[in-house]
Amino acid sequence: RSSSLDSGDNIIRSHLPDLVLPTDTPFHEYIFEKCDLYKDLPAVTEFVSGRTYTYSQVKKNAIKVASALHRLGYKKGDVVLSFSTNHIDLPVLMLACASLGVWYSAANPTFTADELSRQLQDSGSQAVFTMPHLSATVREALDCRNYKHNVKQVFVFGTSPGLRSFQSLLEDDGRGFPHVYIDPKKDVFVLPYSSGTTGLPKGVMLTHFNVLANCIQIQASVPVSVGEKALGLLPLYHILGMVIDQYCVLQSGACLVQLPKFDPETFLRCLQDAKIELANLVPAVVNFLAKHPGVSKYDITSLRRIYSAAAPLGEGLTQEFLQRHSFGVTLAQGYGMTETSPATNVDYTNKMCGSVGTMLVNTLGQIVDNNTNKPLGPRQLGEYCVKGPQVMKGYYNNQKATQEIITPDGWLHTGDIGYYTEDGNVYICDRIKELIKYKGSQVPPAELESVLLEHPGVADAAVIGVPDERAGELPRAFVVKKLGVKVTEKDIVDFMKDKMAPSKRLHGGVQFIDEIPRNASGKILRRSIKEQYTRTMKG
Ligand code: AMP
Repeated sequence: RSSSLDSGDNIIRSHLPDLVLPTDTPFHEYIFEKCDLYKDLPAVTEFVSGRTYTYSQVKKNAIKVASALHRLGYKKGDVVLSFSTNHIDLPVLMLACASLGVWYSAANPTFTADELSRQLQDSGSQAVFTMPHLSATVREALDCRNYKHNVKQVFVFGTSPGLRSFQSLLEDDGRGFPHVYIDPKKDVFVLPYSSGTTGLPKGVMLTHFNVLANCIQIQASVPVSVGEKALGLLPLYHILGMVIDQYCVLQSGACLVQLPKFDPETFLRCLQDAKIELANLVPAVVNFLAKHPGVSKYDITSLRRIYSAAAPLGEGLTQEFLQRHSFGVTLAQGYGMTETSPATNVDYTNKMCGSVGTMLVNTLGQIVDNNTNKPLGPRQLGEYCVKGPQVMKGYYNNQKATQEIITPDGWLHTGDIGYYTEDGNVYICDRIKELIKYKGSQVPPAELESVLLEHPGVADAAVIGVPDERAGELPRAFVVKKLGVKVTEKDIVDFMKDKMAPSKRLHGGVQFIDEIPRNASGKILRRSIKEQYTRTMKG
């Protein structure tokens, strides 16, 4: 990428003054200080089991787990991976890893063994932390011949034959807690996975400083209060759950009420019985709250604020939601990417329907022309670029992909298309990157295409997202059949069902075509497939 974005013109700035961010505080020390401050207040609760940790327990347990892992030989630079649904011990494990300088990665617990083993290989993880009902998938992933791995140990939350329990780490006396030097600006804290603007999922290296900066930036715009009840529904393997839900809450003396997955009844009962005040949601869940008749059976009037992120939230849906739930709850959007720890924008006024809001403090934005890369003025459509302390260190073991997304002077090209208004509000209208979002989950077309090519009846394939009111987009495959091989749409849909997590299945169906349109260098022309599909649907 060339760096033509350093001029002072047409830069979108925060409405709030910049802050001096702490550059020498490791992330766990920041949270441990908060634990010392809020001591006996509840920090995390599992809604279903009722298990709760106070702030003091979070710190004490993190120290015990760090001590135990240190005794087992885990050291700075090692990587561990969690393969788990939302769980009270995950924030504890993360803080323990942070204090050892061990990188924390996480995989979607609905992954198949194949998908998991790819991430285990790519991240070089030495240990996996999982749950009893997922341990069979972990075993299968470790035996998978397609990938090599370095996993030495599997820990389980609960019990599973032959696996070491996480509980045994909590029985450590904590005296082995080492002092490990952390350089917050260089040392990696978390390694979530994202496909970015192109290709397969990549490890996103977020440093202690990246994540700490983002927590402070968000608190400056949309503060969480001591004692506030916040919902923990977003999955903790995704950056929104990992950072925003967990640590924006834990830095504030608030309480995170966790749910393991989206089950409509339990979700509504949780809002009602736990008296949730703050909820970060994806548009598909906002859609459920706006439309589902069953919602009226529950009292959800404790809700004060909802933030929607991860995918576009339509103006129509926002209005429908606010008309149905007119008890004073606000609904506003945030915006960001895994690569930006994640937040860069939030609508802190709660009033800018359709906008993702203004820039967070210490963050700059710019809209650039798709072809010339020239910065554009207000109300002109182009690619949205951002710069700030929350921009990742880079992709793990993938300098080429890092250089493609971040300019030498630190501007990250989001791959999203949008514009801004004179008052500094940003509107996201489209995506030029390949990424498909199904209910807020990443669906990288390149990954689906490579699996489709493993089918004996498929000569070539392309995957695009087609619009859907409830899910946002549905992955749809365009397939060229191999000559002489009989294959039906159902064969292909079933084939993908066995190989991919539910979000990455072909919910948008399969269409057989004669040729996949490609440019001279062989790149799939997704735009042209999309346009053709839209024409057919209209016609
Ligand atoms: P992820 O890394 O999974 O968080 O995905 C980041 C991408 O999600 C962004 O680049 C956008 O394409 C999309 N996204 C996130 N928030 C919003 C939003 N409020 N409106 C539209 N798209 C969004």
